[in-house]
Amino acid sequence: VKKAAPNAVIAPNFKFEDMGIGGLDQEFSAIFRRAFASRVFPPGLVEKLGIQHVKGILLHGPPGTGKTLMARQIGKMLNAREPKIVNGPEILSKFVGQSEENIRKLFEDAEKEYKEKGDESGLHIIIFDELDAIFKQRGSTNSGTGVGDTVVNQVLSKMDGVDQLNNILIIGMTNRIDMIDEALLRPGRLEVLMEISLPDEHGRYQILNIHTAKMRKNGVMDHDVDLKELSRLTKNFSGAEIGGLVKSATSFAFNRHVKVGTMAGISTDVEDLRVNADDFAHALE
Ligand code: ATP
Repeated sequence: VKKAAPNAVIAPNFKFEDMGIGGLDQEFSAIFRRAFASRVFPPGLVEKLGIQHVKGILLHGPPGTGKTLMARQIGKMLNAREPKIVNGPEILSKFVGQSEENIRKLFEDAEKEYKEKGDESGLHIIIFDELDAIFKQRGSTNSGTGVGDTVVNQVLSKMDGVDQLNNILIIGMTNRIDMIDEALLRPGRLEVLMEISLPDEHGRYQILNIHTAKMRKNGVMDHDVDLKELSRLTKNFSGAEIGGLVKSATSFAFNRHVKVGTMAGISTDVEDLRVNADDFAHALE
């Protein structure tokens, strides 16, 4: 059996359950089928089919729903290098010329490795967070310094260049799909779109489970906490907000155990600290 190229291998022992992402199983498997199946084909099949790997995807949806989490886990699944994350507004705020330089650098390692090793080189992932910030400016008259257009053009030309490289995957992310220039979504660019929406009740239950996993395992969550009920009470919460809720409940539990006295200073009695249902109720207020 011919060995698959390193970038075509799914990380061994990879399991969706272990990813710490709640409520996005469907989305994950859809992205996998639509964007990454070809990367796990046996060697040679992609050539036989005369197709190319998907080089770019766009994750869109409300803030805090797990897009970054998802992008990172995709990288793990595909055995990729640690992704490089670029923030849209940040890259635009740079002095003229510097943004271009930074974008060039982003692609540099992958390009170099591909030249040396071809399809044997590892997968490089470049994540563009808040992509809309870069692309909404295109052609607009008030882009100020004019940095916007050159950056956009450079990102586009880099994306087109990726066509020649099998070892790069670009993941765009945005809360404002309506702001995204159509040019970006053409085949060969960010061609697979996936909406990551707010979790439903079952998703929220999974996310609550993920965010309380440690405290449950370590016996520091009281049995009176009902995660099923909490998942009903957290309608319209994003994953990030659920994370925040758990954190806030924990701080209410701390409050019960930490006494700050003027004379005695701060005393803590955390021996029997348990996060309980009341703490969650307070956190929800
Ligand atoms: P933004 O659009 O604001 O960048 P995002 O969609 O990329 O947001 P993340 O950065 O992935 O959101 O989520 C922030 C944090 O919220 C995560 O680190 C995680 O703790 C929690 N979180 C969000 N969604 C989920 C989820 N589906 N399952 C588990 N945790 C989640």
